[in-house]
Amino acid sequence: MGEVKRHSDKARELNARAWRERLTRRIADLDPSSIDSLYGLEPVYEPGEGLPGLLPEEFVAVQCPYCGERLETRVDLTADEPSYIEDCQVCCRPIEFSVEREQTGALLAVKVQRVD
Ligand SMILES: [Zn+2]
Repeated sequence: MGEVKRHSDKARELNARAWRERLTRRIADLDPSSIDSLYGLEPVYEPGEGLPGLLPEEFVAVQCPYCGERLETRVDLTADEPSYIEDCQVCCRPIEFSVEREQTGALLAVKVQRVD
């Protein structure tokens, strides 16, 4: 009896390991274009539900409203500013970032717009 149980535990463990390896490979295989398609073209970041607690900062991907390049920006969640201006890393024009947060302080969305 005990022998059978150990055997199936072992099989499950091997299965989980194979799955983890497949998952790791899949993430490593992502090229920039498939990452782009994951993020979509909308300059809005919506992390969705089930966030693992509050983070002091988050990296979000947005699209430059001038040149259309995808950029990553670091949002400082310890600062209490609803918006800030940062230059595009590609075309160096100033982008206004508007940070929407939940009442808990968690990041809800980041929107970008031109400073014209
Ligand atoms: Zn730009």
